[in-house]
Amino acid sequence: MPFIAQPQIQHQLLQTIEQGRLAHANLFWGNAGTGKLAMALWIAQTLNCSQHTDKGACGTCESCQKTAKLIHPDVTWILPTYKSETEKKRTSEDFTPEIRAFLLEHHFYPSYAQWVDTLDAYNKQTAITVEDIRQLKQKMSLASFEGKFKVVILWHAEKMRTEAANAFLKLLEEPPTNTIFILTAPSPEQVLPTIQSRCQSTFFPPLSDETIANYLIDFHKIENITAHKAAFLAQGNINEAIRLIEQDTHIFDEITQNWLRACYAVKMSEIQNISDTIAKLSREAQKNFLVYLLHILRNAMIAHYEVEKLLFVPDTMKEFVLKFGKTLSPQTFEELYNTLNQAMEYVNRNINSKILYMTLSVRMAKILDKSKKIK
Ligand SMILES: [Zn+2]
Repeated sequence: MPFIAQPQIQHQLLQTIEQGRLAHANLFWGNAGTGKLAMALWIAQTLNCSQHTDKGACGTCESCQKTAKLIHPDVTWILPTYKSETEKKRTSEDFTPEIRAFLLEHHFYPSYAQWVDTLDAYNKQTAITVEDIRQLKQKMSLASFEGKFKVVILWHAEKMRTEAANAFLKLLEEPPTNTIFILTAPSPEQVLPTIQSRCQSTFFPPLSDETIANYLIDFHKIENITAHKAAFLAQGNINEAIRLIEQDTHIFDEITQNWLRACYAVKMSEIQNISDTIAKLSREAQKNFLVYLLHILRNAMIAHYEVEKLLFVPDTMKEFVLKFGKTLSPQTFEELYNTLNQAMEYVNRNINSKILYMTLSVRMAKILDKSKKIK
C-alpha cells in the first residue's frame, strides 16, 4: 500500500467512490511530494479491490498487489518521455520497465528532476505525445481484462503537447465506460483549459512537518531528530525530505562501521542483514553510500601510515578509522578499493541489489580474512 499523506482527501474520495460519484476525469494538483501519485495509486487499488474494506483498498488481494507493482493490465501509467531514435522508444508503453522501476524506487513520491535523471534526458524535450494518446485510445477500445474499472494515470499532464491534448480531449468528451482518468499537475492553469474544465479538481496542499517526519520514521526507519530536521527543511515536500536525508552521509556512519566489522569478522548472518538493509536504499542513496565507503577506506589507509592530521572524516568515525587502518595493508586496501569500484558500476545497471550486496560483502570478507592470515 502506498503511504497516504493526505488522509482528509482520501476520506472524501472514499465517500465519492462508495456513493458511485467519482468523476470520470480527475485533476490532482499541487507541488511535488504532496502525495498526488500515491493517492492515484490508492484509487486504482480501491476501484478494483476484491476485498474492499471500509477504508477502501485492502492492499493484499491479487488485484491490489498487481496494481501496487504496476503490473495490473487495467491500470495505465502515462509519464512524459522523450523520443529515443536509437532505441525506437517513444511512448510510455515503450518505457514500461523504466516507469515501473522509477515509481517503485521512489515509493510513488518521485520528482520530475529524478525522472529526467533516470531517463538520462537532460538535454532532451520530455513530453506526453500524441502517440501516447493514440496508444491509450486503442487500449480503451478493448474490454477491461481483470478489473471492474480501467484507470488511467497521467503524471505531469501539463506536459501534454497540443496535439496530444486535443486527442486526449476527444477521449474525455466521449468517455469510455467504467474508465477513470487521474491527471496530476503542479497547478491547474498549466493544463489546457478545455481539459481542466472537464476534470474534477482536487488541491493537494504542502504537507505538515509532522506528517513528513512521521513518514520518515515509520516508513524509512529514520531516527527521530534527523527526520524532524529534514521535515523542517523540506517545505511540505516528502520527496525533498528524503533527498535531504540521502545527502547527509552521517546516516551511513553506523552502517559503514557495522558492515566493515561484520566483513572483517566474517559474521555471515550479520553480513546478510546489512546487505539487505543497503539493498533497500534508493539507487541514488546506494551510490552515495559506496562513495562514502571508498572515502572511509582511503582515510583508513592514511591512518595506517599514522598521518592522523591528514584524516578527513567526521569525529564520530575517527576512532573506527584509526583502528581499522591498523589492520589494513596496502595490498588489502587496493583489493577492497577495486572491489567497491566494481560494485559501483553495477548499481547503475538494473540488477538485483540484494544479490549485489551479498556478493560484495562476501568478497570483502574474503579479502579481509586473507589479510589476517598473511600477518
Ligand atoms: Zn484489495
